[in-house]
Amino acid sequence: MDKKGEYTRCDECGSKFLKSSSKMMALCPECSHILYGYPNCDHVFKNGKCIYCHWDGSRSDYIKRLLNDDET
Ligand SMILES: [Zn+2]
Ligand SMILES: [Zn+2]
Repeated sequence: MDKKGEYTRCDECGSKFLKSSSKMMALCPECSHILYGYPNCDHVFKNGKCIYCHWDGSRSDYIKRLLNDDET
């Protein structure tokens, strides 16, 4: 019954992503990884989005700040 190719929009970064690629309904794999520690997608970008989860590389200001803290 699970329709392949179903898209939804990430609550955090606003990117569209493939529902089946994320553990969380409302978050893309990238955001669910950063915010909740779920496994991330091994993103491979082609034509501006990941071929696996279809995340487009968007990041919210909040996520950017989290990542900056990590790297310093
Ligand atoms: Zn996201
Ligand atoms: Zn991906």
